Amino acid sequence: MNIYEQYLRGPMMPHIWCSGCGNGIVLKALLRAIHRLNVSRDDLCMVSGIGCSSRLPGYVDFNTLHTTHGRALAFATGLKLARPHMTVVVISGDGDALAIGGNHFIHAARRNIDLTLILFNNFIYGMTGGQCSPTTPLERLATTAPYGQIEPPFDVCRLAEAAGATYVARGTAYHASQLDRLIEGGIRSRGFSVIEVLVPCPTIYGRRNRLGDGVAMLKWQKENAVEVRAARKLDPNELEGKVVTGVLFTAQRPEYCQEYERMMARVQGKGERGL
Ligand code: SF4
Ligand code: MG
Repeated sequence: MNIYEQYLRGPMMPHIWCSGCGNGIVLKALLRAIHRLNVSRDDLCMVSGIGCSSRLPGYVDFNTLHTTHGRALAFATGLKLARPHMTVVVISGDGDALAIGGNHFIHAARRNIDLTLILFNNFIYGMTGGQCSPTTPLERLATTAPYGQIEPPFDVCRLAEAAGATYVARGTAYHASQLDRLIEGGIRSRGFSVIEVLVPCPTIYGRRNRLGDGVAMLKWQKENAVEVRAARKLDPNELEGKVVTGVLFTAQRPEYCQEYERMMARVQGKGERGL
């Protein structure tokens, strides 16, 4: 049995993802990272919201929660506080995590709660109808931007860093082996980790914007990604239109569950009433 089969829920196959979609590549990278980390499947929980990528937890044999649109981080926060020993991985898309769930995103980062968010960025709402999302680039077409997007997109990683995340990385579906290292690092890091992954959505985003099929979209990633150490040697003009990948930011800061436990021990130790 290969390493993927031992973690997949066979009866849930076939999956719903389109031919050429990047989600399966990220799923395999995630399974390789978990396999290397040797986390017991009983001690790992995957939580997702709504969207194409958010179907992922249904396909894997861990503790899994498929929750409501935008609320994966809120469910995961409650789970982590109740079971702080568990490794909690949150699967979310760009619309799910940054529009509907944008408040949960910034506050999970501010708290520095020990969750690992894998943010599948396909630049659009794929499953729910092709609407523009907070990462749709300027001028790109969407069902809700038929003449081109005029709202500037979020830079996911800069937003995560500014809000307080302590491990921030970006990868692409094309750079699959780099991706499992980025995910592994995020799970190891004790605090809020964000791994943004650029994934091709040839069916909804690619077709509407004439970007070609899944292979063409992966080729674009191959040609336009610049690893962060190489990027530091380039000037801003040379980086125009490029995607900087790798671990972009790390920091050490108190983690929320530890702080909560410390506070409760202090309050209970003094005989004070709990909150
Ligand atoms: Fe993937 Fe896009 Fe198809 Fe959704 S609609 S499964 S994101 S290719
Ligand atoms: Mg999306």
